[in-house]
Parts: sequence; structure tokens; C-alpha cells
Amino acid sequence: MSLIVQKFGGSSVADAESIKRVAKRIVETRKAGNDVVVAVSAMGDTTDELIDLAHEVTPIPDPREMDMLLTTGERISMALLAMAIKSMGYDARSYTGSQAGMITDDRHGSARIVDVTPGRVREALDAGAIAIVAGFQGFNRDSKDITTLGRGGSDTTAVALAAALGADVCEIYTDVDGVFTADPRVVPKAHKIDRVTSEEMLELAAAGAKVLYIRAVEYARRHGVTLHVRSSFNNNEGTWVLPLDERVDEKKEGDRVEEPIITGVAGDLNEAKVTVVGVPDVPGKAAEIFTIVAKTGANIDMIVQNVSAAATGLTDISFTLPKGDGEKVMTALTAEKETGGFESLQYDDQIGKLAVVGAGMRTSAGVSAQLFTALSDAGINIEMISTSEIRISVVTRADQLQHAMRVVHEAFGLDAEEIAIVHGGTGR
Ligand code: ADP
Ligand code: ASP
Ligand code: MG
Repeated sequence: MSLIVQKFGGSSVADAESIKRVAKRIVETRKAGNDVVVAVSAMGDTTDELIDLAHEVTPIPDPREMDMLLTTGERISMALLAMAIKSMGYDARSYTGSQAGMITDDRHGSARIVDVTPGRVREALDAGAIAIVAGFQGFNRDSKDITTLGRGGSDTTAVALAAALGADVCEIYTDVDGVFTADPRVVPKAHKIDRVTSEEMLELAAAGAKVLYIRAVEYARRHGVTLHVRSSFNNNEGTWVLPLDERVDEKKEGDRVEEPIITGVAGDLNEAKVTVVGVPDVPGKAAEIFTIVAKTGANIDMIVQNVSAAATGLTDISFTLPKGDGEKVMTALTAEKETGGFESLQYDDQIGKLAVVGAGMRTSAGVSAQLFTALSDAGINIEMISTSEIRISVVTRADQLQHAMRVVHEAFGLDAEEIAIVHGGTGR
């Protein structure tokens, strides 16, 4: 008997009909003789709608109350799903995050899991029931408050349950057939990837491929959880996200003859660029600036420092960060302008970030040249560049990003013959 954790995203449980369809699928897995634990997201765009509602009440909602509000979404779907399963003659029990033992730190809105104590989930399984756990939510022991794990956090709930329960596989059900070479809503000729290493998946998720939440991929890699991303709308095999060595082993056996240089292309419109203008080009200045930024808790990504102008000895430093962190970072830097000794600050939230990812890049020359040529042929200007061993990222104008993703996808020979199918969801 296997233990399978199944996660159903919002687009898979958008209405009563979908909930019944998903219930049927869960029951089939149980009927096949498996123990089943389910993590479920809020219905459709519920979380976005609740966020909009909060902002209609106040421009800056209190973080604790925001978590109280948002966790109601998953409470609705978990109860409805359990009811649907019961009506089909199978035992099912729903649990909130805290009932399921998802213990987190106290960072409202982006809490991290510190412990998982799924005693009640185990009891349910031992009693032959299907356990349904509300995704995206946890509980802090010190404050005794409810927390949320960050947008897309139901993926993390599923992976954490799979790790704690020693599940055989963690299946992530969504509205596309798996992980594609690019977001199929943006690049219609994207195609499904059969296997991807967790290392590549981490880079894709970090670069904006929201099909999997980055923290869930990290958690899965750390705990050796195998992920299978697939559609809840059909029975097709999806994408296996494997720990790196497994794919290497397979390659030895000759299953995988050639590793593609580029596995996928991702895009992100949620970043902004800050430029610190007129920074004295002397030791310690970058440290000073980034210490101020670090104190705000903002997650910065790309950093570029220009060569200083010989006449002035001044340089510019630009970096990117999530738009949501823009205001606090600009406020902190503005307050330190005098002591920091720089001339001025610029804020630009009309940028797009494009990344190409592929493990084969390590051993392949000329990938940057190919990328820059494709962008240049399309008349797209590159504003910033950064690289890792298996990724190249560039910043473009926001309104050029989607076009850039399509031309780059084609230039690296990733285009499929057919148009990709998106089964549901609004892409919000
Ligand atoms: P769920 O509600 O199931 O959590 P999400 O909306 O979070 O679903 O994630 C699925 C969506 O991710 C897809 O509909 C697709 O538009 C988007 N996406 C972005 N990049 C990719 C990619 N590389 N492969 C597949 N889907 C992607
Ligand atoms: N409902 C939450 C969100 O929309 C969590 C999730 O769906 O993973 O972000
Ligand atoms: Mg998601």
C-alpha cells in the first residue's frame, strides 16, 4: 500500500462541479488501495478577491488579521471537498493547518514551516479515512496565531506533509499538464517537460514560473520528496521533479541521451529596479547601501554596478527587488541619503525579468550570445544581466517581456508543433 499526497490548486476546485470531479479522482486513488492525504487551495481566485476586499477596507491591512481573513478560503474548500467525498461513501476528514500540525514561525504573510506534527492526519489514515488538509496555512506556537505561507503556499503544505508522513510521491494537480518550457499562457508553443531536476525547477520557480512555489521545491529537495506535477483535468502523465542524482543515474543507463542546453524560459513582471545615482567609488559604499536595504528585510535579486566616470569618481548601482518591497526600501535609502553620500535615487517599476534555465548550460559555450542575439534581432533592449551556473537573466521593459519570452523560446528551438492546452483558471 502506498501513501500518496495530492495537492489541488485553486483552478482545480473553482466551483461545486470541479470539487465533485476532484473528489472522484481522490476516491479513485483510495479505491486503488492507497492511503491518501490531500492538500487543497482556496476555490478559484478566492485569495485574490479576499486581498482586494481587505484593501477596500484599509490601504495597509494588519498582517495578523490578513492571515485570519485569507485562511478562510482554504477552510471553505477543504470542508466542501470532505463533504463531496463522504457523499460518495468514503470516509474523509478535513483539518485546518493548525489541526494538521503545520507549525510555523511568526512571519505573517510569509511564514516558514519549523515543524510538522501530523498526529491527527495519521489517526485519520489509520482509521481508513482520507485526510483533507487546508493548504497555505499554519500556526505559531508562541503567539498562538494563525499564519500563511506566502502566495502559492499550498504547494509547500503538500510537500511538508509528504515529507513528514514519508509519502511515496507528492502529486501537484493544476490546470496545465505539467511544467512546460515556458508559461503556456504567454508562449502558446511551449511544451511539457517530462523530467526536470529540482535544481532547474528552483531556478525556474525563482524566475517566475508560478506552476510550483519556490519554497515547496526547496523543501522537496531538502527532504528528498519526489514531485509529480500534473493536470487535474485528465489522466496524462505530468512532469517529474527529481533530485539531481536520479536523473544523472538515469543518464548513465542511457535513457536520456542528450541533455537540452535550455530547459525552459521564465518571465516575471513583479519586480522593480532601484538605481542609486552618484555613489562615491570607494571601498565600503556598496556594503553601506546594501546594509540599509537588508535591514528592511527586502529580497534583492540582480545587482549591477557601473564603471565610475573618471572625472567624478562616482558610479551608479542598480538592483532589482519585488515591487511589494519597493516602498520600504526607497524610504530607508532616502532617509540615509545624506550619510550615504550618494546623489539621488530612481525607482522604476516598469521592468520585466526574463530568464533562461538549463543544466546543460554548464558545459555549453555561447548561450549568452545566442540569447542576446535573439533579443537584439527582435529590437529588445537589455537593461541588466545576471547569470548563475545554470541560468541567465536579463531585464527588459515590462511591455516587451512577453514578446521577448516568445522569441527566446523559438531561438533556442523549444517551440512545439502544437499549441499548448490550458484547462482552466484565469491565470491570476
Ligand atoms: P494552481 O491554482 O493549481 O496552484 P497556479 O496558477 O499557481 O495553479 O499555477 C499554474 C499556472 O502556472 C499555469 O496555468 C500557468 O499559466 C503558469 N505557469 C507559469 N510558468 C509555467 C511553466 N513553466 N509551466 C507550466 N505552467 C506555468
Ligand atoms: N490560496 C493561496 C494563494 O492563492 C495558496 C495557494 O493557492 O497555493 O496563494
Ligand atoms: Mg499555485
